[in-house]
Amino acid sequence: MKLNHNSGLMGKIPKELELLVELSYNMWFSWNENATRLFREIDSQSWEQAGHNPVKMLMEMNDRILYEKAQDEQFLKLYRKVSKEWEDYQRQITWFDRNFPEHTDKQIAYFSAEFGFHESLPIYSGGLGVLAGDHTKSASDLGLPFIGVGLLYKKGYFQQKIDSQGRQHADLHQYEFNKLPIREVLVGGEELIVPVELPGRQAHLKVWGVAVGRVHVLLLDADIAPNSEWDRDLTAQLYGGNQETRISQELMLGIGGIRALRALNIHPQVYHMNEGHSAFISMERLREMAAAGLPFPASVEAIRSNTIFTTHTPVPAGHDVFPIELMDRYFGVMYGSLGTSRDDILALGQLSDKTNFNMTFLAMNTSGFHNGVSKLHGKISRQMFQSFFGGLPVHEVPVDYVTNGVHLETWMAPEMKLLLDEYLTKSWRNASAQEWQNIGLIPNEKFWNVRKLLKEKLIALARKNLIEQKLRNGAGDAAVEAVNNYLDPRALTIGFARRFATYKRANLLFQDIDRMKRILSDPKRPVQLIFAGKAHPADYPGQELIREIYRITQMPEFAGKVVLLENYDMNMARYLVQGVDVWLNNPRRPMEASGTSGQKAALNGGINFSVLDGWWEEGYTDRNGWAITSQYDADWKAQEKQEVESLYKVLENEIIPLYYSSDNRDLHDRWITKAKTSMIMLSPVYNTSRMVMDYTMKFYTPAMARAERFKQNRYELAVRVADFKAFLRIHWHQVKIMSLWDWTGESAAEINDSGERIKQIKVIVKYGTVWYKDSVVEALYFSEQDGDWSPVKVPLRHVYDHGEGIHEFAGWIPVHLKHQDHYSVRVRPVSGDFAHPFELPLMTSSR
Ligand SMILES: *Cc1c(COP(=O)(O)O)cnc(C)c1O
Repeated sequence: MKLNHNSGLMGKIPKELELLVELSYNMWFSWNENATRLFREIDSQSWEQAGHNPVKMLMEMNDRILYEKAQDEQFLKLYRKVSKEWEDYQRQITWFDRNFPEHTDKQIAYFSAEFGFHESLPIYSGGLGVLAGDHTKSASDLGLPFIGVGLLYKKGYFQQKIDSQGRQHADLHQYEFNKLPIREVLVGGEELIVPVELPGRQAHLKVWGVAVGRVHVLLLDADIAPNSEWDRDLTAQLYGGNQETRISQELMLGIGGIRALRALNIHPQVYHMNEGHSAFISMERLREMAAAGLPFPASVEAIRSNTIFTTHTPVPAGHDVFPIELMDRYFGVMYGSLGTSRDDILALGQLSDKTNFNMTFLAMNTSGFHNGVSKLHGKISRQMFQSFFGGLPVHEVPVDYVTNGVHLETWMAPEMKLLLDEYLTKSWRNASAQEWQNIGLIPNEKFWNVRKLLKEKLIALARKNLIEQKLRNGAGDAAVEAVNNYLDPRALTIGFARRFATYKRANLLFQDIDRMKRILSDPKRPVQLIFAGKAHPADYPGQELIREIYRITQMPEFAGKVVLLENYDMNMARYLVQGVDVWLNNPRRPMEASGTSGQKAALNGGINFSVLDGWWEEGYTDRNGWAITSQYDADWKAQEKQEVESLYKVLENEIIPLYYSSDNRDLHDRWITKAKTSMIMLSPVYNTSRMVMDYTMKFYTPAMARAERFKQNRYELAVRVADFKAFLRIHWHQVKIMSLWDWTGESAAEINDSGERIKQIKVIVKYGTVWYKDSVVEALYFSEQDGDWSPVKVPLRHVYDHGEGIHEFAGWIPVHLKHQDHYSVRVRPVSGDFAHPFELPLMTSSR
């Protein structure tokens, strides 16, 4: 890909330091600690002023400083070191090269409405964006042929200010694109602009590119001259505006995104939709296929063959839904060009409700691979999509999971990296589990020194943040001065930072405020709490929570012990996850699809204390952290009460005593053991390197193979699968189970190889015009193991053809099973060309 190198930095950087230009336009600097240090060492004050944005810093910098640096031997040494690391990074043979040499010429396109790479590029709001950023970084590390597609928001996400009443103010800042670490994408020397149709007009999107290590992410921007003022504002803000803004943005991301790729002659083999926001990519791909003459049903099969949909939302209410009237206005012009009727197109986004169009259904219907983002969320998603799959038993709903992770090199403190480098071989950076074991070899004192340093840095940042708040809010000198004594570097420090969404229950700790006062006011065992987070400007209950926490911070008993920092972003997140002793998370289960901030804390020796939701449900053991528990079948109110009690109990009886288990405040051996165990157990698993490998092996490479098969001979297989499905949809009703025998008498029982007593069952199925080989006949029952009921499927063998489409099948099942009560027999369609066994919602069951 060609990016415009003719930036404002040309001619400004001395020849001796020319690589600074490339480095400042590549997000690699944000996770290579030496590269970050290089920029900081040019001038730390300018670095802070520029918001850690190297492009802005260099552009606004006095030339003299740069020329001095070009003569500074100390600086040049670091510069050469970074140059070498950058070269090595680009050259190394990657995991993907080694394992999938046959696929290195392919491409994976990854679509997301937000990307969180670094604080210098504010096009993210929270977890979803940071995940997309971390995914992209690991895709680069692992050498995936990967390209991201997103939107460029000129006002980004809002900056948060908290006033003296605890009210949140959302400040919008207009970014100058020419000072962001992004560049224009060029085609034939010209900037790339792609058109999209909006109601009654055409809008144009300019394509920018951000380099992330070895890979690129395209960012689309509507703020260009041919567009009306109105249209130019459509991409102004992430998650801003109303339904119209939302549908316009999603249309731009989906339709515009595909067009941008095509303009660059990129025809990916795999399309990954990170959440339903980008599902309109399917509309544009269907249009392309219709234009190439493929019938609509075959087009749907073709795009399903290589599309992956990752859902992040555990509740239906969280999904994007547009009224049909809005769809008609925005997609009316497109209806005629997909080779089918309006109703068929709308049906892609509908289930029973015909008045709305649901982006999640569009994503599900046009993807062959679906997944949630943790083991528990996979299960919750299967429940949520059960009706989508025609009431299939929950455990069979074809929604898989890949547990989220975090990018190691982004989230681990440089000080901790150095410590690991000292005691471990470099392979810890590849998340090798073996190597992490050796963290046990690090002397406790050294480990604790790093932990202390990180906590001190966090406290310094917190005080600075609070002083800024106070000064702006007109506090008196004494009040401002007092902040310098806020937070004790030796106290047990608990962090709680995330979006202020109500389900995350930031106020849970304060349900019994007197108890909390007692806990925090023990002079021998001090405990303190740091809160941070934004609430969406339209989320009033979320903002009310901010006010509640703020009021608590103002109570005399909590002054300096409970603080609320403003403007949580990736920079602050780094300080928090690196500096706290305990990372607290207490969402209403199972609302947290995964959560990732706790994984960042674990990387740095912080210990998790959380509700068993999202990733913590699978990551937790009593050796590596603490759980807030309750009875999950209780009603929400009762459950919350139990969780509050659990929270206090664990805090009082376990966490605080463990931290202060020695009289000497500088000795925390037992605590350190737990922190190290948590690092050893969690870090090699809950990182994006493991996650992107999972995506590659579960979805990307199978999708590449499917795409290839479906595409051959002008999509012959896509046509065949579509015809096959259409035929079965019409004729399946003829399939009937005519009779079923099982031999219940004891005398009929036999003993199988594993010593189980089994009996034979026989089934006669009438098929009509359906070919029996296009089906499987199976017995289904549940077996209990360790208190978990898991399904067992026993395929029945074809034993006799009775003629006239009537066939007999037989098999063996445990003797105690009674038909209807314990087991059933079912017939379902089967095809080696299906992505999963339940592509068709057709099934005939004996029950
Ligand atoms: C990691 C991160 C998140 C995600 O946190 P959760 O655990 O999902 O709540 C949100 N915002 C920022 C700035 C982050 O760095």
